[in-house]
Amino acid sequence: MEEFDECDHGQPEGECVICNLEAENARLRETARLAEHFARAKGRHHSQHAACDLMEHLGLPCVRPGEEAPQPTPEAWMYQHDETGQIGFVDQWQIDNGFEKNNPRLHIICPLYRHPPS
Ligand SMILES: [Zn+2]
Repeated sequence: MEEFDECDHGQPEGECVICNLEAENARLRETARLAEHFARAKGRHHSQHAACDLMEHLGLPCVRPGEEAPQPTPEAWMYQHDETGQIGFVDQWQIDNGFEKNNPRLHIICPLYRHPPS
């Protein structure tokens, strides 16, 4: 007689209809639990973690908050004059050395990064 692992129902492992249904049931219950957790999550941070819990359970890739690749230091910054609307650029060194304080009419809009990042 051939030896094989039997489940509680006396069936070969992985071939038992009852066991497979129970496994599928447990998977669906977990999906529902994670989906409800996501639906009830409060705040962006918890929502993102709950979304990742659900996505990973479904076998989908997810980047959790705080695990994003660290941003490189900006190469330069774009600014705009608050009256004329004129746009210009300054490098990081000037930002680090009092550009904003010395130019109260110029407002920083956004950082600029080297592309591709070095
Ligand atoms: Zn079974």
